[in-house]
Amino acid sequence: MTATSPIIPTFKTPVTAQIESLRPHYSADEKEALKNEIKKLLKEQDAVLVAHYYVDQDLQELAEETGGYISDSLDMAKFGNQHPAKTLIVAGVRFMGETAKILTPEKRVLMPTLDAECSLDLSCPIEEFSPFCDAHPDHTVVVYANTSADVKARADYVVTSGIALDLVSWLGKQGKKVLWAPDKHLGNYIQKVSGVEMLRWQGACIVHDEFKTRSLGELIEKHPEAGVLVHPESPDEIIALADVVGSTTQIINAAKDLPNQEFIVATDKAIFYKMKQAAPNKKFIAAPTHGEGATCTSCAHCPWMAMNGLHNLLEVLKTGKNEIFVDEKVRLKAFQSTQRMLDFANNLGKP
Ligand code: 13P
Ligand code: SF4
Repeated sequence: MTATSPIIPTFKTPVTAQIESLRPHYSADEKEALKNEIKKLLKEQDAVLVAHYYVDQDLQELAEETGGYISDSLDMAKFGNQHPAKTLIVAGVRFMGETAKILTPEKRVLMPTLDAECSLDLSCPIEEFSPFCDAHPDHTVVVYANTSADVKARADYVVTSGIALDLVSWLGKQGKKVLWAPDKHLGNYIQKVSGVEMLRWQGACIVHDEFKTRSLGELIEKHPEAGVLVHPESPDEIIALADVVGSTTQIINAAKDLPNQEFIVATDKAIFYKMKQAAPNKKFIAAPTHGEGATCTSCAHCPWMAMNGLHNLLEVLKTGKNEIFVDEKVRLKAFQSTQRMLDFANNLGKP
């Protein structure tokens, strides 16, 4: 089936190096004081910190030290849903905060910044997406979690990278045709492996899109014993060089479980913090990107994830600003498609 979708809207992409240069820099003592203040406020406000693997190491450490959680987008959704805290602080990008609110409307959901977008979400506005679905009523609509609440509400199923292939394959077995959005590379990968008939939106992740095939091939030649771990938001040619293709959690597990002592990793390099914890004696090498320093947009670190820091986390706890709200009608519909994913995940592997 032809890969097709309406024209992808243009949007401004922040540059990671610029975002990082704007962030306040703290001495070790200042950082410690800041962390202690945040810990105290988390306790006082019955709040728990849920962080994605791609946010700054300071935030990941803080989540660990305070009984919070660090994970991929699927497990972040599950954790927030099950944890008893009254407030969820979601350190990640906007769709992750919205997913938490969709699943747990009774909780207050705050984010260190509301400016943390995602190029996949931005590529797929509901005004363009809805007519595309209307034009293909014979297709089951499956959307990646990296979308707005409105787009989730229009979908039959929401998926994350940890479960997308299994769910689409399962739909295919029932003879269903799939309309997939928004990541063209993940859609392409799923279609190739599952053989399911798919119409695909043409969005891309600006971080994974920047990995460079030729340089990766050269790096593999230099490190022939290294395992190659790739997130499926990467282009086809990068995926073709992978030993393991998987979600962030699946990549970390592969680093731990595979016998290789060295790995080349094609995903956001903030994940190295947890990878090194999972496999402390192994060596991790970042896959090469187009450009270096000032000439790459992300340099393998998501600029929107980089907007989260100790400074804005503290501010949010002090002021209660940056609360996530989702229109209730939209939420109820988005809840159905998101809950279907969680139900599918819970039954996975069962007869
Ligand atoms: P994961 O679900 O694998 O954590 O991916 C989320 C994401 O935004 C990766 O770019
Ligand atoms: Fe979106 Fe890519 Fe950033 Fe993930 S890494 S949040 S897919 S832009």
